[in-house]
Amino acid sequence: MSFNDDARLDSSKVKRRGRGRTTGIAAGGVGIVGIIVVALVQQFTGVNLSGLLDGGSVGAPQQIESTAVAGCTTGADANADVDCRMVGAANSLDAYWAGAAPEIGVADYRTPDFFLFTSSVDTGCGGATSATGPFYCPPDQALYVDTDFFEQLRSQFGASGGPLAQMYVVGHEWGHHMQQLSGAFEAADRSGTGPASDTVRLEVQADCYAGAWIGAATTVRDDAGTTFLEPVTQAQVADALDAAAAVGDDRIQAAGGGRVDPDTWTHGSAEQRQRWFETGRAGGPTACDTFGVPASAL
Ligand SMILES: [Zn+2]
Repeated sequence: MSFNDDARLDSSKVKRRGRGRTTGIAAGGVGIVGIIVVALVQQFTGVNLSGLLDGGSVGAPQQIESTAVAGCTTGADANADVDCRMVGAANSLDAYWAGAAPEIGVADYRTPDFFLFTSSVDTGCGGATSATGPFYCPPDQALYVDTDFFEQLRSQFGASGGPLAQMYVVGHEWGHHMQQLSGAFEAADRSGTGPASDTVRLEVQADCYAGAWIGAATTVRDDAGTTFLEPVTQAQVADALDAAAAVGDDRIQAAGGGRVDPDTWTHGSAEQRQRWFETGRAGGPTACDTFGVPASAL
């Protein structure tokens, strides 16, 4: 997915948060990947991170410094640089949801904070490292992304990880923000796991919201009336679907050499994640009622 070179970006929508003292691991955050995070980090550190999956305690952020991402003013910048691509995605997502929020019952849309970080970051959900993957922290109403994750998508998850795959990841986390605003997040029982659990319903709804944005992205315009994004090609969609599949719980479990155990799923299977992404892309956000469908249709 490419930006129109002439699109004007407001770079203040994304900030970079400097490294602070890390006190734990984003216990209350919701990310793009589930099982892999715990498996990987435990593998390398031996630290028990079970709190990540059960949405545990919320800690106070410490020593936080944030600075605006500079030098991202046009779509051409977003095409050339990954940080600027995050700024471009934030501009398009913000304009899209400002219009579409009422469709999912959100009357007063608010722009989330969006922080880039490297290595580790302190948040209202506790400290996080790059191994956490991109995540949304509900108490902060903020997205946290270490763009090194996109390299990980290629090297560890075996996805192609192109620009639309990166946008899918951001669109998914922004989808969690919409769930925070709609009340879906609070209403869900996040203690359970399994393919029809509320936890998975939340995650595939976020995938669906990402699809809804990408489906409408060529209609979203900057202040001067230029669309942020050019039409999506079939190859780019395949790239995003490839990423959605790569972070499916079954795919991650199989790649890790373990048994595929649906009872432990938190984010849904590759097939579920792809299907809900496409449901949103075709039908918009009102098609994303993942809590309204029976388990057999999830
Ligand atoms: Zn998620």
